[in-house]
Amino acid sequence: MVELRGIAASPGIAIGTVLLYREDAPQVPQYAIEQKHLEQEKDRLSQAVARASSDIEDIKNNSSQTLEQDEKRLLDTHLLMLKDPTFFESVHQRLEQELLNIEWVLYQTVQDLMDKLSQSSDTYLKERTSDLHDVSKRVLNHLLERDRVSLADLEDEVVLITHDLMPSDAVAMNKRMIRAIAMDAGGKTSHTAIIARSFEIPAVLGLSRISRVVAGGEQIIVDGNQGVVIVDPDHDTLSRYSRLQGEWQEHEVELMRLNDLPAETKDGKLIWLKGNIEISEEVDGVVSHGADGIGLFRSEFLFLRPSGLPSEDEQYRAYRRVLEAMGQKPVTIRTLDVGGDKVSAAISPGDEKNPILGWRAIRVCLSETELFRTQLRAMLRASVHGRMRIMFPMISGVPELNQALEILDGVREDLRARGEPFDEQIPVGIMIEVPSAALISDTLARKVDFFSIGTNDLIQYTIAVDRGNERTAYLYQPFHPGVLRLIKMVIDNAHSEGLSVAMCGEMAGDPLASEVLLGLGLDEFSMSAAGIPEVKRIIRSVSLAEAEELAGNVMEMRSAAEIDQAVRDHMKQRFDLAVY
Ligand code: PEP
Ligand code: MG
Repeated sequence: MVELRGIAASPGIAIGTVLLYREDAPQVPQYAIEQKHLEQEKDRLSQAVARASSDIEDIKNNSSQTLEQDEKRLLDTHLLMLKDPTFFESVHQRLEQELLNIEWVLYQTVQDLMDKLSQSSDTYLKERTSDLHDVSKRVLNHLLERDRVSLADLEDEVVLITHDLMPSDAVAMNKRMIRAIAMDAGGKTSHTAIIARSFEIPAVLGLSRISRVVAGGEQIIVDGNQGVVIVDPDHDTLSRYSRLQGEWQEHEVELMRLNDLPAETKDGKLIWLKGNIEISEEVDGVVSHGADGIGLFRSEFLFLRPSGLPSEDEQYRAYRRVLEAMGQKPVTIRTLDVGGDKVSAAISPGDEKNPILGWRAIRVCLSETELFRTQLRAMLRASVHGRMRIMFPMISGVPELNQALEILDGVREDLRARGEPFDEQIPVGIMIEVPSAALISDTLARKVDFFSIGTNDLIQYTIAVDRGNERTAYLYQPFHPGVLRLIKMVIDNAHSEGLSVAMCGEMAGDPLASEVLLGLGLDEFSMSAAGIPEVKRIIRSVSLAEAEELAGNVMEMRSAAEIDQAVRDHMKQRFDLAVY
């Protein structure tokens, strides 16, 4: 039994079997398969071998003029190797014995054989090593092409262990089959954590070495509440966690009872609790958790898929679907925010030294204006199907905002000229996630209809700490007095101009921060849908006056640690949940 501690990135407890994505050999994942899938794995191998053979035939036939005799002979040797029954028999035998996925079995068999050949004194045999390497790589490539999508096609429930995961992969995987995620890299606000929370998948990130501790196929416990992972648990640990898992599930069911009740403080202040989504399919979860709307639709996830940019009509349909599902409840769609850790194959900034400080979000849109116009057109056209709000990300100053508003006006004009209907009253707001924007929020407040504080980035840029870097995660402090002062400044400046203020960063869904934010005057909290009931429970059990007192006390404190302790003590007195 091995126990590791990391960052509790998505709540819940899962017990399951490890699927390992190895970073050091990313092309060869390793995971356990069930007996009943043996034939399927053998079929996958035969298909990959057939494709590899046909590739080689193509090279031979299509370049017959230019190929030297030697090269032709080599290709013939490769074709023969692909027909070698003894080799494939040994692969099949190993597959049946080890019950691991076929690409891993093939990879291991080839490695063993290459080791043997390279030690041989026979030069001819020695030379076959490179042939074996080439041929097996060809077959593996075909298998792995399948495997890249196979995270999307998983048929058995697994616990995904990996060094790191791209947000685009996280979106593409078959989330119903992922019981939990544990990663070496990542922090609480990395996009993998955000997606895990959206889909209610327990996750522990920032574990540093979990991908080196497991081999695949082990039993594992992932406790996303406490940030603990236990590999090969003993009997006592297993039964303790089974009990904890049951208690957690009961707690979740209990919270769902609050779904139809408003998020209203004891002294009558009504707060809006909304959901964050990345893809339109998440909208059902938002509805089922009793959200008052969608406070952040991260539209860029439409742009992160490998198949390229979505057309205007595809975007229109996605926005319309979400608006219609939410009925009369408002939906804030954020314009494209690619860049940073959200890498789009189609919109690449090239090699940037500091992607997080580079060409991302509104900066991309203001230089790729056709892309921006297309998105705004799709949004405006969809706006007649519900209550849309438009939000610009990463605004850092007034000229940037002016430019974005001008482009939006231009798109409105075009649509009017074409006689296409859209909602003329759409509220337009900005995210406050860059410190310069927070500092000039008084000026910005006069130009827009609402603010939404993006604490994920605001914390990152204020403390100068990468939100996805596990080594510096200890510095990523939502309760840093500097961060709290900026939040307070934004809320006060917005209120002076009669604007309401939302928060859609992960801090808004952190139960530990709820009362402080309430006391600072936040009007709207937007978070992964599953977090809504817990935050609602807290809001319903305090008065605004109590929350203001707590916030007032906290604002006098000098360090995140001091604030954290004070808030935890305060929460412990009121609530029984272990996470405090
Ligand atoms: C934020 O920065 O807080 C935010 C909500 O945006 P994202 O997490 O997508 O960067
Ligand atoms: Mg952001």
